[in-house]
Amino acid sequence: MSQSVTLFPLNCIRCATPIPAEVNEVAWLCSICGASMALTEAGEIVPCEFHFSTDLPAGKKGRPFWVAEGVVRLIRQSYNRIGKSDQEAIQFWSQPRRFFIPAYDCGLEEMLTIGTRWLTKPPPLFEGAKSDFLPITQSAADVRAFAEFLIIAIEAARKDKVKEIQFELEMGVPQLWILP
Ligand SMILES: [Zn+2]
Repeated sequence: MSQSVTLFPLNCIRCATPIPAEVNEVAWLCSICGASMALTEAGEIVPCEFHFSTDLPAGKKGRPFWVAEGVVRLIRQSYNRIGKSDQEAIQFWSQPRRFFIPAYDCGLEEMLTIGTRWLTKPPPLFEGAKSDFLPITQSAADVRAFAEFLIIAIEAARKDKVKEIQFELEMGVPQLWILP
């Protein structure tokens, strides 16, 4: 039995120029007309807006991230009664937070490190000129799962004996940003 890999010809949705797409990529920018597009879970190519940070250094590829606003309603039970960590958690999630999920190929460790750092101290999002960026291999469909993973990681890292964490996450539509 032969195993076949289906490589569908990918053409720009606006000008039909062939896009040199790698197998694991999920979003592209047409080098001819500048149209940006992404692959959906259903296998369709749809328009997808790319935002480029003003802070991208020249000569270095930017890193693509899915950025989504999230409101987290947390129920947290530690073995202490209402401990300091519970208070910190209530305080932290009392405002909407911006999730930054790497859309480029990076390990879970890096995703956790950047994800938690930027959840606490988000980088500014000001739009600048288009620039070169790393291949986009993580689709918007995975953003929620990664965001939930980050919430659990943050809560588990608080200095107390957390017993149980429950939360509801209300999430906005992820936007693609190219960041330094
Ligand atoms: Zn095009």
